[in-house]
Amino acid sequence: MAQIINGKEVAMNVRKSLKTEVDLLRANGIIPKFAVIMVGDNSASKIYIKNKTNACNELGIECEEYILSETTNMEELLDLINSLNKRNEISGILLQSPIPKHLDIDKAFKAISPSKDVDGFNPENVGKLCLNQDCFISCTPNGVMKLLEEYKIDIEGKNAVVIGRSNIVGKPMLQCLLNKNATVTICHSKTKNLTEITKKADILVAAIGKPNFVTKDMVKEDAVVIDVGINRMEDGSICGDVDFKNVSDVCSYITPVPGGVGPMTVAMLMSNIVKAVKN
Ligand code: NAD
Repeated sequence: MAQIINGKEVAMNVRKSLKTEVDLLRANGIIPKFAVIMVGDNSASKIYIKNKTNACNELGIECEEYILSETTNMEELLDLINSLNKRNEISGILLQSPIPKHLDIDKAFKAISPSKDVDGFNPENVGKLCLNQDCFISCTPNGVMKLLEEYKIDIEGKNAVVIGRSNIVGKPMLQCLLNKNATVTICHSKTKNLTEITKKADILVAAIGKPNFVTKDMVKEDAVVIDVGINRMEDGSICGDVDFKNVSDVCSYITPVPGGVGPMTVAMLMSNIVKAVKN
């Protein structure tokens, strides 16, 4: 039976130590301030933003929320980002995705000053991650790395397989594991013989968005299985991309959903905001 990786506990510890850092900054007259932008009316985004602003409040980070209407045009969005870029007291800026289809999200991410890009989506930060230089790393992959570190899971020389190649999870995940000297394979919807590849993984990361996609027969014995998926089921429950119950019989470590990677994403965002303030 696998050991369960308790992301909730690790995230709580990260937040505790960040609180100490923020208290110290505030004692020195530095008030960390973060701005979050949402365009349009998306119920999932509202929940994500609420989780992020709650975490900021708990840590003593001030938060400005900009909720723009569905009909906002690109110029208005860029104007807001530029005005936030110019304000010295704002250390971090986050644009909540998705945004309406008529807007160019890549252009918007590019407009966020790299030094305030706490989500790590600006091409400068993405490039620096590829070059293994100090940068803001996308929060979910960064959270996965923190979990592996906390549980003292060896990465160097291991076969790591990432399923999913999105810009926000799969690709930066690949890069983070590579930077720690894993031999990384990335799989996606066009990959042939997926099971043949996943079966060789010492570390398997699932970021697909399909409930219970990774089954027991796809997992090598004693592998470390990280489930990034968050799938909302019809009955309102949340389920991961991994068939947790059966896969935990064969693997050595596994993250649950909820309570695994999810809480780490918010914790790493807070960590990036504090890093931005210190920079
Ligand atoms: P996405 O839809 O952008 O990407 C999904 C990826 O899965 C794609 O690259 C696609 O090629 C791949 N894929 C789809 N079907 C496949 C198949 N049959 N075989 C192999 N690969 C396949 O999704 P995303 O934004 O990367 O998110 C993935 C999941 O992670 C979602 O459930 C999302 O809700 C969740 N997520 C969780 C957190 C967190 O904090 N835990 C953060 C971001 C995303």
